[in-house]
Order: sequence, then C-alpha cells, then structure tokens
Amino acid sequence: MNALPIVAILLMLFSCLVNADEVNTVLDKKNEAATARFFSNLIETNNPNIAELTMAMRMMPKGADIHLHYSGAMFVESYLDWLGDKGYCIYDRSEPKFKIEIYQVETRQKNQLPEGSQQFCLDKDEVIANNTFYRKLLEVWSTKDFYNHYDVQKAPDQHFFDAFSYFSSLADQDLMAGFTKLKNRAKYENVQYLEVILQEAPSVEYPDLAKVLDTLDPNADESVVFAALAPYAEFMAKDPNFTKSISNYIQTGEAAISGMDDDKFRVRIQAYAYRDEPRAIVFSSLYSAFSAAHASKKIVGVNIVGAENGYISMRDYKLHMLMFRYLKTLFPDVYLSLHAGELVNGMVPPEELANHIQYAVDIAGADRIGHGVAIAREENTLELLSILREKKIPIEINLTSNGFILGIKGNNHPIKLYQRHGVPFVISTDDPGVLRSDLTQEFVTFAINYKPSYADIKKTVFNSIQYSFLTPEEQSTELKDLRARFLVFESEIAKLAELD
Ligand SMILES: [Zn+2]
Repeated sequence: MNALPIVAILLMLFSCLVNADEVNTVLDKKNEAATARFFSNLIETNNPNIAELTMAMRMMPKGADIHLHYSGAMFVESYLDWLGDKGYCIYDRSEPKFKIEIYQVETRQKNQLPEGSQQFCLDKDEVIANNTFYRKLLEVWSTKDFYNHYDVQKAPDQHFFDAFSYFSSLADQDLMAGFTKLKNRAKYENVQYLEVILQEAPSVEYPDLAKVLDTLDPNADESVVFAALAPYAEFMAKDPNFTKSISNYIQTGEAAISGMDDDKFRVRIQAYAYRDEPRAIVFSSLYSAFSAAHASKKIVGVNIVGAENGYISMRDYKLHMLMFRYLKTLFPDVYLSLHAGELVNGMVPPEELANHIQYAVDIAGADRIGHGVAIAREENTLELLSILREKKIPIEINLTSNGFILGIKGNNHPIKLYQRHGVPFVISTDDPGVLRSDLTQEFVTFAINYKPSYADIKKTVFNSIQYSFLTPEEQSTELKDLRARFLVFESEIAKLAELD
C-alpha cells in the first residue's frame, strides 16, 4: 500500500481532532459567557429572583469549604440520633439539688441515675414525642428561630458559643458517621474538598513551669516569652505520656476520615487550641497541634478557636501569637489558619481592635485569616491590606456567622474593602449546623449583598482550592476536577438561559 494515503488519512484525522477541540473551546467560552449573563441578570437588580439564584448556587461547583468546625457543622437532629444510639438522655428542667441543668446531655444510662433525677431525663423518643421540648431544644442547641419570634434571649454571641456546651459530650461519639454526613452534604452541594477543624489538641500542665508562663507580662518581648516557652517545650518533647496522647490524637483524627476520599471528594483536618484557657493549656495544646500537623499528612494545619473577645483571649492575644511564632521555629513546615479580627466595635475597648489581624500575620505568620472582620479598625489598615495582597494571605469570609455572632452584615461587612484592595478571599460556612446554613446559602448571601460578577464568584471558588492546605499535587488534581465541573455547570446554565 502506498504510504501517501495513510499520511493523508492521519493528517485528516489529526485536523478533525484539532477542530473538535477548537469547537469545544468555542462552545465552552459561549457557555461561560451565557452563564455570566445569567448571573448578572439575576444579581444586578434590586429585586433578585432569590429562588432561581439559590437553584443556580446549589448546582454551581463550590470547590472547598476550608473554614468548617466539625462539632458546629452537625445539626441538632444528628446529635439527637446519636443520643438515641447511645441510650443517653436530656434533662427537661434545672434542679440544683440534683445538680441537673435543663437541655444538658446525661451520658450515664438512665437506669443508673439517682431516683430523683431519673424522671427529668428524656431519652430520644421522649424528646421527639414532646414537640414543645423538641422545638426548644433546636433553638437552644442552634440559632434556629432566634430572630423570628419573641423570647427572653441571651446576646447572640453568648447564645452561639453556649450552644456548643450542650452537645459537646455527643460531638466525638461517632466521628465517622459525622464525616459521612459532611461528605454527603458536600456532594449534594457540589463541593469537592473539606478542611475540617476537628478536635482540640491535647494539653499538659507542669505546675512549676506553668507558673512561669502565668507570671509573664502579656506584652512581654519575644525573647522573654521564648525563654519561658523553651523549657516547657523541652519537657513536653521528653514526656512519654504526652507523646502518647499526641499519637492517640493523630490516630483518632486519621481514623475519623479514613476511607472518605474518593475520586470526587477529599477531606483533611486542622488541629486547634482554645484561646480562652490558662497559658500552659494553650501552649501545650498548640505544641501538640503543631506536632500532629507535622507528623500526619491528613492533619494539614493548625488553628486557634473560641470567642476572641473573652477576657483571657483578649489579655493573652499577643502572647498566643508569640507561642505560634515560637512553635514555627520548631515545626516550620506547619500551615496556619488563624481566627483573627472576629471582633466588632463596642464588643471590646476600641484600641483593642487595633492589631489582632496584624499580629496574626506579622508575629504568628498566619497563612490564612479566619473572619478578619475588624480590618477597618486596624491601626495600620492600608499597610496590612497591601501585605495581605502581596503575600497572598486570604481571608476566610463567613457571612452568616458574622451576621449572627457579631451583627455585621450587608454594607457593614468588610468584604468589599478586601476586594477593592485585591486581598484574596474565600467563602466558607464556619458552623453550618449551629447556624443552620450551608455553603449554597453563603454564596447566595454573597451574591445578593455584594453583587459580584460571575468572574468574581468563580475566582472565589477557585481560591478555595488554591489556598487550601492540600499539597501542590493534590491541588492541581482538584483544580483540574473543578474546571471540569464548571464546564458541565456552564453547559447546563447555558441551556437554561436559552429558555429566556
Ligand atoms: Zn471559625
């Protein structure tokens, strides 16, 4: 056979392939433009069709949720199921003489309770049968119905943080069941990656060394603070019991997410310390969080949580940032996402709003900032904004959470300020179970209030993977998947747009 026709056929085939690719690219661009028009028609109006926007946002690939607390992500309904599985009960009243408190979980079996208190503890079936109590439980353990009817209420931030104390004894009961719920929710919402703030890292108290930490001036210089922290760290490194509790902590976290990853979903963990605790507890917990993140591929970062406006949190804020700085010298490979600037004017004296975000960046070396609401009150806002932009330190924006806990919503939120200064940000949920929200709702709120272009929305979604703490290889796999998801989404929306 003559070689010429074969070459000609091959050339023809090749050009067909090239043309097919070109056709696809043109079609993809057309779909993207149609989707952009669809979104701008929905968003750039004073009377948006919120139902249609919600539908589109639910369908839209949302990349990752990288600011998500495990216990706050569970809904009361799940906690109640686990309570039933374990045979626990919940008190329906407070009786000081029995040391029982209404809405608290009793983790002893009912038949082992003292005679007097037994009758006041409701098991799962009794809770469900008592609709008034069940409705009240939903309200107390979450933010449900907080604003839509009159009741004698706590301040919203108090209500929010208190909710955690009710279900804390249930939170770790069945981590795999919890992560399965998170995975199912993620798939339902077209979310491919979760970075979950899971459990407080273990702590240890050495009384003599703790005393040294307690006597530190909260504004002491770095060298003085480091001199106090070094012996503590050395003790911890040599303490076999503590080393054991760190490896147990790693094991629990890894087991909780074991087998969860598949070709459409990935999950990783952040370790954390509580900020409103004695210094030795905060430092040792941070030490074990760093150790765990250093040792485990599944624990990808360290955080610090709890109400930032608490007395100890405020007094020791700079000291905590120096603890991070010190631990970075021991574990330089560990990524940090720090809650910082989750504050608002009137919550603390004004001058105390001046530098939390800056300290998290300059002193602790944060790779990401959680919330960053108080940015406009920072002493060096302009310089800080340019540092955040230059160093590509993103802000994790949690709109529902900020609206509820801080009362910061609409034009009061600094999201536009960040945007104007080119600071990257992501949209995340914080505590969707307690706040009774989800990532879809966060994007709807983002779109309605701040009227971003479709390109901005898409960029925000891509940021969630780009600024995640996944390895570069994992990130590039996830980005490829995200691009593929957008092609599908945009072709669906383009078809919908044709109906107009
Ligand atoms: Zn948070």
